[in-house]
Amino acid sequence: GREWHLTARPQGWPAPDGFALREAPVRTPGPGQILVRNLHLSVDPYMRGRMDDRKSYVPPFRLDEPMDGGAVGVVVASEAEGIAPGDHVLHGLGWREYATLDARHASKVDPSLAPLTTYLGVLGMPGLTAYAGLLEVASFKEGDAVFVSGAAGAVGSQVGQIARLKGASRVVGSAGSDEKVRLLTEEYGFDAAFNYKNGPVSQQLKEAAPDGIDVYFDNVGGDHLEAAIGSLKVHGRVAVCGMISQYNATEPPAAPRNLALVIGKRLRIQGMLVGDHSALRPKFVEEVSGWIRSGELKYHETVVKGIENALDAFLGMLRGENVGKMVVSLDD
Ligand code: NDP
Repeated sequence: GREWHLTARPQGWPAPDGFALREAPVRTPGPGQILVRNLHLSVDPYMRGRMDDRKSYVPPFRLDEPMDGGAVGVVVASEAEGIAPGDHVLHGLGWREYATLDARHASKVDPSLAPLTTYLGVLGMPGLTAYAGLLEVASFKEGDAVFVSGAAGAVGSQVGQIARLKGASRVVGSAGSDEKVRLLTEEYGFDAAFNYKNGPVSQQLKEAAPDGIDVYFDNVGGDHLEAAIGSLKVHGRVAVCGMISQYNATEPPAAPRNLALVIGKRLRIQGMLVGDHSALRPKFVEEVSGWIRSGELKYHETVVKGIENALDAFLGMLRGENVGKMVVSLDD
């Protein structure tokens, strides 16, 4: 099977010549292991950080070895109890066509309950990030006015909709195209939205939320965080989920210049990692799948076909070519 290797560490924006799609032998499963044919691969912003050689909450990708990440596939051979050929599993050995792994690192998923791609997106890691980040990290409560950046992406589109469904007084989102902005207000039910490329974020946020905000869900950092600090009300909360505007930066970014406002406004700015919130998963799956079934929560996916296009899908996601979760599909 083919698999993607990182062959050189990127400086700034990753370029295709730092990656290679290579043929590798398919390993027969040993005791307790399964062999999976991957059907859908996830490409996620955090993978950019793993391309750098520095200590972080996940280890860096190793050069000239397969990259990894979320994937859903079908079991083709099993030496593990409780998993049979034909079963579908979610696991962590993406970026490749075939994966051999210990069955305890895979979880069964049911394609009759939800499309397989949703286990990588709206019902998977990004979905839980949105749910836990808003409800636990930002301590969202009914009546809060919420601003979320990256609002047309996998995490952001769900943050805004959960806020609306949980009784936010106002939901505001920002995204990088007028088309995405339309989607936010017309389909996802945001009260207001703006294109951050159309003008200063602070000014556009003030117009979209003239009475201020109680919660900012940060996916972007930089000028978005600075604008949010300016618009937050006293005792406002920030969940810092991501800062994608600086993942490819070669210079240290400017700090929010208005950080001293944190004092007088008694703001709480808290980072998060979705891995800390797995206890919330059952409640998240139950509530969000209910909203999907009832049509109250909508989601998009951008599907790129073919393992040979996985790198382009990843780079395209960093550039904003996705609406909702970016997925690479390998079947047929
Ligand atoms: P998305 O589906 O939101 O895709 C990334 C989006 O980022 C693009 O579509 C693009 O949309 C936007 N973007 C890219 N560059 C910039 C920029 N310079 N300024 C503003 N927006 C930009 O990805 P996810 O939903 O998977 O992830 C969203 C965020 O959540 C990321 O920051 C990610 O790192 C973080 N995250 C954190 C987790 C945690 O545990 N802390 C877990 C999962 C995700 P546009 O067209 O609007 O620019």
